[in-house]
Amino acid sequence: MKPVIRCSSLDRLLSCPGSFTLEALESDRLDIFAGPSGNEMTWRGNWCHHQAALRLVKQHGAIPPPNGLPPPVLPKLWQPSPWDERTVSWYLSHLLTKIPDDHAIYVERHATLEFERFILSGHIDEYDINPEGTVFNLNDLKTGVSIVDIADENWQLLGYIVLLKSLHPRLKSGTARIFQPMADDPITEGEVHDIDAVVGYLEEKINTALDNLHTLQTGYKQCRLCPAALYCPAIKEEIAAMKLTLTPETIASIKTDLPTPELAKLATAARTLKGPIDKIMESFKERVTAEGSVTLEDGTVAQIVDTPGDRVIANTQVAFEFAKNKVGEDAAWRSTKISLTKLEDELVETGMKRTSKKSESAQSWIRDNLGHLITRPTQKTLRFS
Ligand code: SF4
Repeated sequence: MKPVIRCSSLDRLLSCPGSFTLEALESDRLDIFAGPSGNEMTWRGNWCHHQAALRLVKQHGAIPPPNGLPPPVLPKLWQPSPWDERTVSWYLSHLLTKIPDDHAIYVERHATLEFERFILSGHIDEYDINPEGTVFNLNDLKTGVSIVDIADENWQLLGYIVLLKSLHPRLKSGTARIFQPMADDPITEGEVHDIDAVVGYLEEKINTALDNLHTLQTGYKQCRLCPAALYCPAIKEEIAAMKLTLTPETIASIKTDLPTPELAKLATAARTLKGPIDKIMESFKERVTAEGSVTLEDGTVAQIVDTPGDRVIANTQVAFEFAKNKVGEDAAWRSTKISLTKLEDELVETGMKRTSKKSESAQSWIRDNLGHLITRPTQKTLRFS
């Protein structure tokens, strides 16, 4: 039986062919690159993709899949945030400027293509093609915060292009784009001039990976979301072994259902490594800052870039007035947070000592006057003693 390879997992397969072997240990299924089951990020993605497709169908005449648009997979009580709404609006407003008037728009198309040694499978968000069926635009929305490869270096996108050819055999050329609002460069694109050459190129790459199914290769991109990461021998080698060849003995000794002592051992190792790793990263950041950029052995360039942090209200008083006028005083108060640390600083500014056993201090004032208003929710903390 031929393995089914999902476009969304191509990056990992081509970077670490051994992950194919390891993941298959957990189950007998050959469709081993199924995406992760739900979490907040996947639900956000599911909702945004569905909304975008729905609006394209309803408002712009896009063609849905033959069985209609499937509802998004979401927990019952899950609600989109304003950010999710903005993501969809942003995506559509940019996407629509890229679609020529005479192109037919298709959304949420699933496709598979059988090759000699594997079956390629994938789900294309949106594409549009000219009336002759020879030119395409293929567009992929990424809602995650982890920045993906730009369009012309993205294996997943290449997989989709190959699948598109199977849906529309007359296609010759086109443009593929990635829309990722969280990225510094939120819209990237790559052009394809000879789609048949792309099909052959990708098949060759995947065949090479299938020839090397016992080779593990660690790396940030492939390991970050790898389902085999917990029991991967290369990870257990704790970064030291960047390449490892699987032997039948190694594979036979792997337990995918980790016993508690082994899990505890890994947690201990992670805990032990956390401090040094933080320090290494801090030192490396200082070095990169001092040198401007550092080129790693594999050609990766490390640089310090400015990225937007959390939003901060510069003038709470003015912001409060605006909020009060819009939503009323009570609602404005509910959205206003008092920082006890800041209040303590302010009390110290008035001349109080921060702490004192003999007289009133900033801390004792807060305790005596606000103590009955302060709650402290418990949180789950992993403690080693
Ligand atoms: S954790 Fe990394 S090295 Fe290990 S199998 Fe997964 S991708 Fe490969």
